[in-house]
Amino acid sequence: MTPVEALERVVHCLDRAHETGFKTKAFVRALEVVRATPPDELVERAAAGTLAKLDGIGDSTARLITEALRGDTSYVEKIEAETAVTLTDAGARYRAALRGDCHLHSLWSDGGATIEAMARTARSLGHEYMVLTDHSPRLTVAHGLSKERLEQQLADVAVLNEKMAPFRILTGIEVDILEDGTLDHDDAVLAELDVVVASVHSKLRMERQPMTERMVRAVASPHVDILGHCTGRMIGKRDPSTFDADYVFAACAQFHTAVEINCRPERLDPPRELLDVAIDFGCYFSIDSDAHATGQLEWQPHGCNRAAERHVPIDRVINTWGADDLLRWVQAA
Ligand SMILES: [Zn+2]
Ligand SMILES: [Zn+2]
Repeated sequence: MTPVEALERVVHCLDRAHETGFKTKAFVRALEVVRATPPDELVERAAAGTLAKLDGIGDSTARLITEALRGDTSYVEKIEAETAVTLTDAGARYRAALRGDCHLHSLWSDGGATIEAMARTARSLGHEYMVLTDHSPRLTVAHGLSKERLEQQLADVAVLNEKMAPFRILTGIEVDILEDGTLDHDDAVLAELDVVVASVHSKLRMERQPMTERMVRAVASPHVDILGHCTGRMIGKRDPSTFDADYVFAACAQFHTAVEINCRPERLDPPRELLDVAIDFGCYFSIDSDAHATGQLEWQPHGCNRAAERHVPIDRVINTWGADDLLRWVQAA
């Protein structure tokens, strides 16, 4: 393992542990410094014990680099063990069945990694495909993609797909559900994409009735395939939004829009009681990481544990299907 590989792996592990503070920033910064430093200089500095004199390298990162140069992986292994994502025995059955991930972001919007890095990680986790779902234009804080940028992204994805075959990057977007339930891209744009995730990101505190109408309208769109993080809650920080779950999930079942089981630890959306309602309505589901970094692609176990706990019918989880079956379902809906 080279120093760069060791640092990349540690950053990946800290991401999967949802460690976003000082420690992660220190390793990300060190990674930039190491990439910019000639390998010979790193070797000399490691021998002389002067790595930490480089701006951006501290004691822990210097230790990691020194170990990597010696072929010693003990620090990386320690971080690996400390950050492993918990998977219950019941959840393991769901995780083993997953063949893809239908909601994730790249540097094109607010993610932290390239499309290629996300794809390589998804493949290393055993997936056959991933759906790339960067944000739509209205979400300016997340550098949402205009029609033009989306077109450029599609061209990039086509090139990457040649390079990564048989792994497949399906095209998609996480499109904002606007206040009136319309979507943040024209139908013609959405029709070009393989899979569309639609999510509410604004006016989450809307009254129950208009929120219900807003969500039902989006779910009923023939272009929408998955309803993302339906309540918008942030555990401990933001309450779930209020809507009539009977109407929304009945619409999801009726219009073949899968209910996402969002695996981000701070979301775990829908909450248990709503997940039970969606199961009763015979909805389809998608267990998605909503990853914004490579390490976060390892979050699917959170959703698998939850799906197992509530007995989500595994044959209704759309990302347990192969890409061709998934695309057939999407097109038929
Ligand atoms: Zn979202
Ligand atoms: Zn997202």
